[in-house]
Amino acid sequence: MNFEFMFPTKVVMEKGIRKRISQYIADLQLEKPLIISDHGIGEAGMLHDVIEDLGQNHIRTSIYLDVKPNPKDNDCHHCAQEIDGKGIDGIIALGGGSVIDTAKAVSILATNGGTIKDYEGVNVAEKPPLPLVCIPTTAGTGSEVTSWAVVTDTKQQYKMAIGDERMIPKLALLDAELLVSLPPAIAASTGLDALTHAIEAYTCKAANPISDALALYSITLISNHLSDSINLGNIEHKEQMLVASLVAGAAFGNADTAAVHCLSEAIGGRYDTPHGEANAMFLPFVFEYNKAADIKRHADVARAMGVGIHKSDEEAANRCVAKLFQWNEALNIPRFHEVPQLNEADLADLATRAFQNYSNDDNVRHMEPEDYLFI
Ligand code: NAD
Repeated sequence: MNFEFMFPTKVVMEKGIRKRISQYIADLQLEKPLIISDHGIGEAGMLHDVIEDLGQNHIRTSIYLDVKPNPKDNDCHHCAQEIDGKGIDGIIALGGGSVIDTAKAVSILATNGGTIKDYEGVNVAEKPPLPLVCIPTTAGTGSEVTSWAVVTDTKQQYKMAIGDERMIPKLALLDAELLVSLPPAIAASTGLDALTHAIEAYTCKAANPISDALALYSITLISNHLSDSINLGNIEHKEQMLVASLVAGAAFGNADTAAVHCLSEAIGGRYDTPHGEANAMFLPFVFEYNKAADIKRHADVARAMGVGIHKSDEEAANRCVAKLFQWNEALNIPRFHEVPQLNEADLADLATRAFQNYSNDDNVRHMEPEDYLFI
């Protein structure tokens, strides 16, 4: 058995921790950090406490808010140009996965120059990126502990993956109070994104014993807390979802994702479909398609979800498929045919994009473009 596992991020969880961010910034010896966030976060009033605490402790900051969902290459370039020559020595990302991934892309561009496409692939950048502090405001992506940034190539309309171990955030501050304003539809789809990460980490070919332990724990947490976390005020369940999302991030960040992500990134790049929704809509179909390739692991997932405990592996996995479909229905996840702008003429190209995805080779069942077309 050969594997590597990395978890260099310091994690601090406490309700209200954002109001004491300056002590952590001082520990990291950052003197002039850039805050990256988005307009939705700004309008929800979440930036205020962070800026106030940094200001009171004489830490000078710049702010960039023009992040879009499924972050775009030109926004990353725009942000990097804006900070060029300003002596920025680190980045604070306050937001969901789009903000965190933009921050990661900018951290590479700030020290290496060029365009973000230059760094597509793994460990391409010559110089280390700027240090990164993340405060996630969704419980879904786990990007606060991964080495990946996913950025849309707007010319070729696909989501490119940039991987660099040095891009793994130095610090993740988990503050459940920030999730209280999360609209229920986003809480639901981002929660299913975290579930997808955990299930794909556990069932993919790159799984290892540590990612397995994390993935199964995350699946159980999500099964116990997702539904109750969706109501706006339910902070204890939201806190559990923040843990589940980070743990799933540590799992897939050290294993891989698989066919669900190959499909969701293909349609996200083409139609700008929200990432959580895109994963959730494909998860039951891919689980069903994959399960025979490793029935034992798919049954383990079912049992971690509390489904099919005393049943055969096959029956447990079948019940899990039914449960995943039920969840999508109950949480109002749109179906693939409801994706805005979906065009049947694009399907063959989307299947090819999915096949070309970095994670395709780690799907437990061998996949060709026709398999994606079939799904
Ligand atoms: P997001 O960051 O795109 O945010 C979605 C919307 O929710 C935005 O409009 C945002 O303003 C709003 N929002 C976020 N938090 C809020 C809050 N607390 N209250 C009110 N509104 C809030 O959504 P996401 O699902 O977190 O991120 C998706 C992105 O993350 C995708 O681009 C995906 O590819 C990427 N991703 C990256 C990794 C990785 O390891 N790098 C892993 C998974 C996903």
